Amino acid sequence: MSQIDAFKGQMASTASLIPRMDKGKKRPVAQPIFTRRVATVVGIKTVKSRFLPVSHEGQGIETYVDKLELLDKNRAEFISRKLKGIERRAHMSLFRELIEQKGTGWQEFFKAKFYKECTIPDELCIACWNCSLFGGLEAGKGATFSRARYFDSYSIENTGDCVAMEGSEEGMGIGNQVYEDVSKPRTSDTYHLYEYVKAGTRFPFITIIESPTLLDVAGYIHAVRRADEHGYGKYSANHGKFDTEFLAVATGYPRFSVLDMLKWSEAGTIKGLFDNRTVKFDDLSGSVALFGSEIEELAGMLQEAFNEYYEALNR
Ligand SMILES: [Zn+2]
Repeated sequence: MSQIDAFKGQMASTASLIPRMDKGKKRPVAQPIFTRRVATVVGIKTVKSRFLPVSHEGQGIETYVDKLELLDKNRAEFISRKLKGIERRAHMSLFRELIEQKGTGWQEFFKAKFYKECTIPDELCIACWNCSLFGGLEAGKGATFSRARYFDSYSIENTGDCVAMEGSEEGMGIGNQVYEDVSKPRTSDTYHLYEYVKAGTRFPFITIIESPTLLDVAGYIHAVRRADEHGYGKYSANHGKFDTEFLAVATGYPRFSVLDMLKWSEAGTIKGLFDNRTVKFDDLSGSVALFGSEIEELAGMLQEAFNEYYEALNR
């Protein structure tokens, strides 16, 4: 059996994503079958335009990049909440597009199959594939847990090298608070200063998907690539574009963390550890790990997996 077939063999069935009736519920909601299995996606994201990882309001007219001391370095911080928020939206846009390719408008399809249009973050349907993967609450009515587990990430590079800030060679960025609204005049009062993470900065990441289906894993890879082009962080329409290199997609929990990946990157050993398939994952049934072109092959199964979901929804 090929690695890909072995990996597929450990996935939950796509039909488990179909919303089902639960006791006391008025309409079907997403209820993933808990297989106790997980899939882990590991990679490195490289910044390719100014990136503003900001989780707080700056003081006055200045915005600062999130930073912290970790493993003997000051690093830029890329919090998991931001990763998840942007990837969830990218996943939804992918999902809607896949539906439209079948010849129906997504709004119409969502209303028929999931009882509402499902708007992130406040009007979630908790029935669709996106809600099944990322979870959600429907005020006063019900909830579905997120099966996607994220971890905070940190820059491999020191902020002294990777952040444009006061005192650095580039200095802080200068923006205009009204540049999106052309009807308002631009004056010196509307300018603001911001720090940003420079292009070329790398962030290792690990995402775990619980009770995974083939559609979840292939869809996640596509959603990340979409999010990379949309942008992460503040002013994401213009900034925060990334290139993601997927290093491994495996069943089971990783026997390493984002911190190990930072150490390996600094030691220059990370590529070898993945290329030589040295990294380990724990799965009671025996982990199947995919690397390099195998990950591309897996991503290529999106349409096939989506067709299966679409047919199951229409049954
Ligand atoms: Zn939904």
